Amino acid sequence: MFVRLKTLLTGLILFTSLSCDKAAEATPPVSKPKQKIDEAAIKAKFGIPVYFNFIETLKKEGFVFWDFDKFYKSDKSKLPEKLIVIRHDIHSRDIDGGVNANKVEKYFIGSRAATYFVMYEDPTEEYDSGLQLQYLKFIASLNQDTVDVQPHISANDLYIANANPSWKNKDPYELKELFDKYYEVKKISDSHGLGTEIIAKSVDTLHLKQMNTKLIEILKAYNAKWEKATGLKAKYYASHGSKVNINTVLNNAVVLDQLSLLRSGAYEFDTYNSWIAEHLIYLSDNSIPSWIGKPTEVKPGRYQLLMHPWVWENYTTPSGAAHSYTNSFPVPTSNKQKKRVSYYK
Ligand SMILES: [Zn+2]
Repeated sequence: MFVRLKTLLTGLILFTSLSCDKAAEATPPVSKPKQKIDEAAIKAKFGIPVYFNFIETLKKEGFVFWDFDKFYKSDKSKLPEKLIVIRHDIHSRDIDGGVNANKVEKYFIGSRAATYFVMYEDPTEEYDSGLQLQYLKFIASLNQDTVDVQPHISANDLYIANANPSWKNKDPYELKELFDKYYEVKKISDSHGLGTEIIAKSVDTLHLKQMNTKLIEILKAYNAKWEKATGLKAKYYASHGSKVNINTVLNNAVVLDQLSLLRSGAYEFDTYNSWIAEHLIYLSDNSIPSWIGKPTEVKPGRYQLLMHPWVWENYTTPSGAAHSYTNSFPVPTSNKQKKRVSYYK
């Protein structure tokens, strides 16, 4: 009896001791402050805490994050209810932040979470060979992580640099007058989907037919240059908000939305295409909206998020923002309601 009691007691003591050890491992009394320190350290390590918080918050809310490759290949009738297709436009100022944004995406989402559109060999920057090398180095680092990388281009700048059109030096007012007088922009669709047609009403004063033909050649040449330098296929673009005069009248996004160009085989799509706006609400950081710092303002839906890493690295909550919603994103009830798109950067 005594031996059995002793065995029982020993067993009990051993069990209690093991349980305590387990409990100590799982929930140590100091775990809370330690977790906080670790979290702060992670945020500091990634160097882009605003984006860290944005992705962390929306992931908790059930959003999924895709790159454009996955979006393009997906069945559009079966898109997730809460979807963010991440687009980064990478200018020289965005390279360092882009490295950090990729770390955040790797940490929270994994691979194929975002497409980085890099402004490699833009005619306004191609003289800067140091910058071109920085772009290539950045592209190579993304490629090592199997991240989707595509060109951020200005069709207008490429055309001016390669074809030297007669209207090159006309001011925006004159260009607008000519464009409004002689052209009509129409949304049309073919068997593949929605796009744009620019119709010459009488005379093709700006020689847009010639421009379109030449652009196909220029874009194919650009793609070949991109592939040679990066080892990657250039398949689709995000249009750059160029400051060149013609872009204020005939925006790059409209140029690349023309069905005649879209069906030329030079590229598969531009992220501003009309057919994409049928599926994704455009969520851009260009006007520094308040949802950058308050991600819960992003309502359930399907989005194309334009995220410039430099903007998020330098984002600070506006003073008094806790009670100010002037910058907040309008809440759409369906994807089709938010079609107006502004083009920047
Ligand atoms: Zn841009």
